[in-house]
Amino acid sequence: MDDSRATSEETKQAWQILTSTGAYREGHFQFDKTGYHYDKFFQLPLAYQYTKNARILSVTLSRMIRRSGILARFQEGKTFTIVTPSDVGIPIAFWAGEVLDADRILWMPKFEGERTFHQFVELSDQDQVMIVTDIMFSGEQVKNAYDKIKSTGASVVLITSIVDRRKEVHEYDGVLVMPLLKVNSERHSPEECPMCEEGIELTKVQLG
Ligand SMILES: [Zn+2]
Repeated sequence: MDDSRATSEETKQAWQILTSTGAYREGHFQFDKTGYHYDKFFQLPLAYQYTKNARILSVTLSRMIRRSGILARFQEGKTFTIVTPSDVGIPIAFWAGEVLDADRILWMPKFEGERTFHQFVELSDQDQVMIVTDIMFSGEQVKNAYDKIKSTGASVVLITSIVDRRKEVHEYDGVLVMPLLKVNSERHSPEECPMCEEGIELTKVQLG
């Protein structure tokens, strides 16, 4: 199910947390935003509500990043900045910032329906950024953050998350994409959904 850079022990522990808290569910789900039907659903706040889980998941993610050697690309004298474009990304960013010794942590609240930086927050070509989020679904949220960061002159060194539902994606615009867990999810249009055909009960879910 997984081809991440985490060790099998780390992967097992992370999946155990997501499963036992209901942050990961299998079944038959309809997402409000897309209308498509899926066989898997993630709601990471269910795992992150528990301090111990938040620590384990974030520290494990950070260790995996450290092991990968990517941190060598963050240059001495520049600012190591973590940016998260999601709400659940905030605790992940702070835990990771502590473990990886980041200089700054920025998050992007929603203003008038769009994720952007707080007023007066400044990024520049002195910032080297790691983008962190809880789950990469279509990747649109991360792409939006990436564009906003790049427009300031800052560089992006790494894109990471707890879960990436896009198993085939390994980089974006030349930047390494390195999640803790990767999972393939089946997606069906309501008209051609085998789970509907089987009569499996449909659960409607919301995406933030
Ligand atoms: Zn269906």
